[in-house]
Amino acid sequence: MNNNNLCILDHPLIQQKISYLRDKRTDSQKFRTLLGEIGALMVYEVTRGLPLEEREVETPMEKTTGYVLANNVTLVPILRAGLAMCDGILNLIPQARVGHLGLYRDKETLKPVEYYCKFPTDIHRSEVIIIDPMLATGGSAVAAVDFVKQKGVKSIRFVCLVASPEGVDLMGHHHKEVPIFTAAYDRELNDHGYILPGLGDAGDRLYGTE
Ligand code: URA
Repeated sequence: MNNNNLCILDHPLIQQKISYLRDKRTDSQKFRTLLGEIGALMVYEVTRGLPLEEREVETPMEKTTGYVLANNVTLVPILRAGLAMCDGILNLIPQARVGHLGLYRDKETLKPVEYYCKFPTDIHRSEVIIIDPMLATGGSAVAAVDFVKQKGVKSIRFVCLVASPEGVDLMGHHHKEVPIFTAAYDRELNDHGYILPGLGDAGDRLYGTE
């Protein structure tokens, strides 16, 4: 594995929910709910180590020192599948901004093509969490990190649900300082760039477009 920054979040609750997601009988409504819940469970670990600053707070008893996040957080879901996971994360960091990034995978070349990008103007001062449930070939992930770096962002984390060895290697090759948080590290890609055993096409399963 060409990436020392891979963190597999194998909490039992996450593993159970991933198994429900993998099940082909899980319908779109349940799939969306599970994806949001897993996002919320994962964000606890993903945000560990974010810098804090002190803020005085007055309890009913006396004044004491409290803490708040020192920097803005911007979530960057890769459309479409990143959105459902983003919603779960937003529940826990409600003050986070969302920078949408639309990338699709060209069916012939399997390379990512940008079709939408709307980031906060001061994203360069923010802690950025890029969200894409499936780290498959790694092409979209690498392109998303490229985009965000071009805006001057220094602190980037990448969150997915299922990662392939190929995707993790490609990220390690291009952006080895970016930590990858995943709930599952699967066996391989098939010839069409789908993860095995995986869970199928996350976007289609989320939105019933199969
Ligand atoms: N995108 C998906 O939704 N699933 C895969 O297995 C690979 C890419």
